[in-house]
Formats: sequence, structure tokens, C-alpha cells
Amino acid sequence: MKRGIYVAFDQLNQGYGALKDADPKRDLIIFVESQRMLQSRRWHLQRIWFMLSATRHFAKHLESQGFEVVYRKADQTWAGIEAVKNERKLSEVIAAEPNSYKLLAQLNGKITLIPNDFFLTNKKDFITWADSQKSLLMENFYRTQRKRLNILMDKDKPVGGAWNFDKENRLPPPKQYQYPPYLSHELDQIDREVLAELKSSDLNLWGDDPDGTWGTTQMAALKQLRYFLDKHFQNFGPYEDAMVTENWAFHHSLLSPYMNLGLIHADEILEAVRERYQKGDIPIASCEGFIRQVIGWREYINGVYWFFGEKYREANHFALNRKLLPLFEDPTKTKMACVSTQISDIKARAWVHHIPRLMVLSNLALLTGIKPQEFLDWMREVFIDAADWVMVPNVIGMGMHSDGGLMATKPYISGGSYISKMSNYCKGCAYDPKLRTGEDACPFTNLYWNFLSENEAEFTKNHRMFQQMSGLKRLKDLAEVKRESARILKGLSQGEI
Ligand code: SF4
Repeated sequence: MKRGIYVAFDQLNQGYGALKDADPKRDLIIFVESQRMLQSRRWHLQRIWFMLSATRHFAKHLESQGFEVVYRKADQTWAGIEAVKNERKLSEVIAAEPNSYKLLAQLNGKITLIPNDFFLTNKKDFITWADSQKSLLMENFYRTQRKRLNILMDKDKPVGGAWNFDKENRLPPPKQYQYPPYLSHELDQIDREVLAELKSSDLNLWGDDPDGTWGTTQMAALKQLRYFLDKHFQNFGPYEDAMVTENWAFHHSLLSPYMNLGLIHADEILEAVRERYQKGDIPIASCEGFIRQVIGWREYINGVYWFFGEKYREANHFALNRKLLPLFEDPTKTKMACVSTQISDIKARAWVHHIPRLMVLSNLALLTGIKPQEFLDWMREVFIDAADWVMVPNVIGMGMHSDGGLMATKPYISGGSYISKMSNYCKGCAYDPKLRTGEDACPFTNLYWNFLSENEAEFTKNHRMFQQMSGLKRLKDLAEVKRESARILKGLSQGEI
């Protein structure tokens, strides 16, 4: 009688989770393709393709290791596992703790769950840290991680004499820059089969076909890591917040989709980064900036997801209820160059980096008053790396401040001036980032002042908003700004601005 090991599509790694001690003689491996999950949303084609193809590649890899593998299509995950368990008369089924509340609720009590080690910080340790804090500042968590994991530490002091190099790492796009080429992954037979299957299915999918941006194996993930370390690591830090029309990724590693499926683990990345840094040609600002993403932000976001509980996703502090704007579906429904560039890039590859996500898309959603849950759904559907644990805190806490400040001490909002400084989008735009009124007014600039004014009573009490609120008080044309806001919001809702 064999034991079953259920492997979720985001735990594709033999070195972690339930597969760590698997034995081909004793264990039967189960994968389930949940039809409910596939049919539940209008997913980006590449998001679903990446997930299914990576899972099928991984299943094949396990077979080549001598494992018996059952890849089952079923209405729901549990239904698929249960059917295999009964048919094969398995002694028990084990799995690593799921990465989402939904799957946890489905499997809890039905199979044996073992600790999830796909992150560097387990839930219990994060909760202990969070309970000891007055507020959940990521910076404090990150410093604790640096010490705990002994990364970039010189005894108890940070290497380079500072915990962060944010000032050096916020440069606007350079002029006259040699952009490195992108790494391309060739689609293999499994990739093409999955694509053909999806394209002939009746699923409601959105976005372009895969173009080689993403590989779907552990080898591809390692290749991506090596490429980043060789070609991008050196200049990652200074330009990590910059956005340009001629280069969609800049020096970003593009590793998050692979990490979020388990194809590569943070441990492997850290080891390779350490080795590369020791060669001595990587500036500390770049190394620290990248390490912060891996051991800081990623772990913090996952910790917060579990710490705040399942209801956190329902928070709507500003009581926003506007429907998703047409431009989120179709980049031709806006004349805002920064926004249409992001939506076109997402359509092409299911990915843009953290600043367009935060300071263009989420900023727009908040300033226009879109219902946070509608925006959250959209973000979950269109990004290739959009796990539930990633998007719930990023949208509810960071992007839309819908938790009223539990996670971030102030909303991440800006007018057109930030986008103008950090990108070259405004040069080719129908609007002028400096104008807040008139036909050429930048919607970001206008709606920014409108939003501050609408929430004046609350923001005045927040000392971190002091500068913005002082600016609002000095505004002479607020009445006109607000009149224009009504016009802009109507135009955006109609896909005409
Ligand atoms: Fe975006 Fe405003 Fe700049 Fe146009 S002017 S690209 S809308 S920030």
C-alpha cells in the first residue's frame, strides 16, 4: 500500500515541502488540475500556461526519477486527491501546508500537512516578531532577518555601514544607456502542447501568447538567476525604481514567478548571490537592494498575509466602490502614456516591476476610487507571479491603503511629478504632469489633490502626511481642481481620458 504525496502547483521542488523525503518505492505523487480554479476567473493566458506547463514538466521530471505520478484533472483539488486516494487505496496522503487560505480550508483535516519550508521564515516566527512590534515596519523586520540569517553582516553591524542604500537606489532613468538584452527561453514540446490545449479550450483567457520571456523548468529558473547575476546584478540597485518606454524590465531579475512556483528557493538564490558578491565587483547598494527584496519584502508580505487573517482581503477603509476602469482591460482605452505602457506590457508578458505596480497602477486605482476587491481580483488575474499571499497584502495594505494603515503608515500616492521624475513616459503623453486643471491636466496630478482634499480630516492627523497637507493648504485653485476631477473621473470610467 503506497503513501500519496500531493504536490501543489506552487510547491514544485524536490528539495522542500512534502517531496523532501519522498521515496519512489513508497510514495505515489499526485498533481491535481482544478477546473474550478481554471474557470473561476479571466486569467492571463501566460499566467495559466506558465503554471500548468511548469507543473507538467515537474511531473515528468519526477517520473524520470522513478516516481509513479498521477496527474489528475478534477472539479476541485480535494476531489482529485480523494479520487486517487480511493482508487489506489493509499495508506494516507501528505502535503506541505498550502500557500493560500482557500487551499488550506480545502485540505485541512483531510490529509496530513507538514510544515511549509518554501519561505525562509515560518508563520510562527513571523507572528512572534509581529506580536513584539508596535507597528509592522518592514524595515525593522528586514534588519531582524539580516541578523537572523547572517546576511551582509559584519559581526552585529551591517556590511557597508548602513542597513539600506535607498538614496543611491532611487535614481531616475539614465540618459544614453546601453540596455542589456533579455534572456529568452525556447518553448519546448510540453510548452507548446499546453498552449495549444489552452487556446482550444473554452476558458476565458486574456493576454498575448508566451514569447519566450518565461521558461517553465527548474533549469530555466537557474539560467534566469545566472543571467541576472552576470548581466544585471551590478546595476540593479541604482535603477530599481526607474521606468522607461524602451526597456520593460531594466535590471530586474524576473525571478519572482519561478520563486512563487517553488522552482527555485530563496536559499539557492542567496547562496549564488553571496558567491557572486564575493568576487568584489558588485556595489553594496545593488547587493543590499536585491537582498532586501528576497529576505525582506517577500518574507514580510507572506508573513503579513497569515498574520492579518483571511478577512483582511475584505478591508475597504476609504469605502471605495468604483468599477474597474476600461483601461485595465484594454490599453487603447486611455491616452495616459504611463498607464497604457503598463497595460500593454502586462498584456505582452504578464509582468511589470514593483514601481509600475505600486506607483502607476495601484496609485491610479486608489486615486480613482476603485473598489479594492475589484482591483485585487484584476491584479491576481493578470500577473504571472500573483499568488494570493503576494497580492492581498500588496493591494489591500500597500497599494490601496484599504487597511487604514495597519501595514503602511501612509498611502502610497503621488501626482504626475513622481512618474515624470522616474520615467520618460510623460514626454510622449497627451497630458502634462505639471498641470492639475484644463484639458491637458495630468489625471494623476489632478486626482492626487482631489484625493488629499477628500481625506483632509484623516490625513491632517498623520504626521507623515504633513508635507502633502501643507501643499494642499497652499493650493489656490482647489475648487477648480475638484470640478475637473469630476470630468476626469467620468472620462476615465468611459475609457476616454
Ligand atoms: Fe502619466 Fe501624467 Fe505623465 Fe501622462 S503626464 S505619462 S498621465 S504621469
